[in-house]
Amino acid sequence: MRVFNFSAGPAMLPEEVLKRAASEMLEYGETGQSVMEMSHRSKEYQAIIDSVEAKLRKVMSIPDNYKVLFLQGGASSQFAMIPLNLMNGSGKADFVLTGQWATKAYQEASRYGECKAVASSKDKTFSYIPKLNKADFTPDADYFHICYNNTIYGTKFTELPDTGNVPLVADMSSSILSEPVDVSRFGVIYAGAQKNMGPAGLTVVIIREDLIGHARDITPTMFNYQIHADNGSMYNTPPTYGIYILGLVLDWIEQKGGLEAMAKINAKKAALLYDFLDGSKLFKATVKGADRSMMNIPFVTGSDELDAKFVSEAKKAGLINIKGHRSVGGMRASIYNAMPIEGVEKLVAFMKQFEAENA
Ligand SMILES: *Cc1c(COP(=O)(O)O)cnc(C)c1O
Repeated sequence: MRVFNFSAGPAMLPEEVLKRAASEMLEYGETGQSVMEMSHRSKEYQAIIDSVEAKLRKVMSIPDNYKVLFLQGGASSQFAMIPLNLMNGSGKADFVLTGQWATKAYQEASRYGECKAVASSKDKTFSYIPKLNKADFTPDADYFHICYNNTIYGTKFTELPDTGNVPLVADMSSSILSEPVDVSRFGVIYAGAQKNMGPAGLTVVIIREDLIGHARDITPTMFNYQIHADNGSMYNTPPTYGIYILGLVLDWIEQKGGLEAMAKINAKKAALLYDFLDGSKLFKATVKGADRSMMNIPFVTGSDELDAKFVSEAKKAGLINIKGHRSVGGMRASIYNAMPIEGVEKLVAFMKQFEAENA
């Protein structure tokens, strides 16, 4: 029996996607082989990667002056790839420290240039998005980095910083495809696929064309955006199966009505859980107000013992991976696109019952 998996990533995939992948596992179309076994240089595979790029462009309304790159190395490799390719003017970059991933991006970039933390919410365990003051921004920065949705702490930017001509770079690993975004506001959007796009192993980079082609001389070939852009993400073997699954996920999103529809369903799912948490005597959400993530919802009981009991009993009830990140404790429900509303309803019903028995 399939469980409801609240993992932060790798995370659930839509059942329809898994079923279709299963039906095409032994033979994709009339090719007599699995996608996994195909040469990435074959015309069959070229058709797959081309169609996936076209679908992503359509679903996200990506403007023509942006390249879509299918890479490996995870979002974490982008922490180095971005400075190596973009820190080519003043050698400076600005960062908003909203959690562990944002801080890692800042620390890695600091190895290559002069990085400034323009704001941080570390004082309150990253439970809010700090107010930004434009006067603190570095006017000649090569880029300005944010982590759009903070997977561990459960916060999300609701308003983008006005960075003027400085390219805004966003780590969207845990929110990409969950709602419409105006891609033209960004210089670079990047995401590890394993939260909301597909299996681990694929990293998607959406980059404005004029930001490509200025990598530092020391940049490893595999870390140079130009190499991947010039070769259609086929400089070396791309993560072929992950790209194919992303295509199935995009088909599924289109069938559901696209990103507008996804955003509505996601808002409904999140409201169900937040409303319960706000009225609960036992559980409380660790993030308040407007900065709440729709994807990752951390909560606590206030007692480590009860938290552990909850996690263990939830697992027995088929609600798995609900333990919070080790840096926050408590619980975290990650409810990406593929989590059906029934999963959130079952979680809330289970929490009500647990509260009645333990409060
Ligand atoms: C999961 C995650 C990462 C790390 O991704 P990897 O693909 O494991 O490198 C980075 N940033 C955010 C926001 C994440 O959620």
